[in-house]
Amino acid sequence: MIAEIERLFIPNSALNYNHLVVCTDSRKTAVIDPFDADFVFNHAQHKNLSIDQIWITHEHPDHTRGFERLKQLTKATVYAPISCKGKLNADVWLEDQQKLKLGECEIEHLLTPGHTPGHGIFWQPEHWAVCGDTLFNAGVGNTKSGDVSELYQTILRLKRLFTDSVVIYTGHDYLITNLKFSLSLNPGLELAEQLLTQAEKQSPQTRTITNWAIEQQINLFLQANNEAEFTKLREQRDHW
Ligand SMILES: [Zn+2]
Repeated sequence: MIAEIERLFIPNSALNYNHLVVCTDSRKTAVIDPFDADFVFNHAQHKNLSIDQIWITHEHPDHTRGFERLKQLTKATVYAPISCKGKLNADVWLEDQQKLKLGECEIEHLLTPGHTPGHGIFWQPEHWAVCGDTLFNAGVGNTKSGDVSELYQTILRLKRLFTDSVVIYTGHDYLITNLKFSLSLNPGLELAEQLLTQAEKQSPQTRTITNWAIEQQINLFLQANNEAEFTKLREQRDHW
């Protein structure tokens, strides 16, 4: 069964998004990277969702800030990538390609090092992927506490796995800045221009969520032909 994803914008200076993964039959819900435990708990109660699981994508504080309090409030089980062991407290450590069961839904976890050594993402093939800070709409995560070469390998792997229909959910609202970056290097990119015009009329809550078909056109990092090109793009984006 395909889970329903709800994206919640968390007002803070880092523009975080949290995601609720919902098994619509059982109402069982996983919260990814809870930032403000009370905010997400009240939201779930209001929508009659039962928070059973907490999934962490990586060890950065803006992704782990709320999970211990949310666990206290809900008694949910905390899952995190095995590569985060020693950096946070989880109940279940996830291997690469490990399957998680949420009610009637089966979700896959992938280890995606690069933004940090410990990063993982969650997805249902052909449908959706919650990518944390590995991949953004029209961009990729920075590698200030990670490794650009590892991130390049991770992105190559995602290019092999993802199909056009996969909806790309990300850890932050960076679409406008990323589109402007794409357009600064490739001013003729019509789809990026259209999406930017649209995005500037939206709020973070209503911001366009892209899919893999769109990403392949607007995300310059997916078009890099080799690691050197990818690394150069990352450096340009860091200083942009
Ligand atoms: Zn991060």
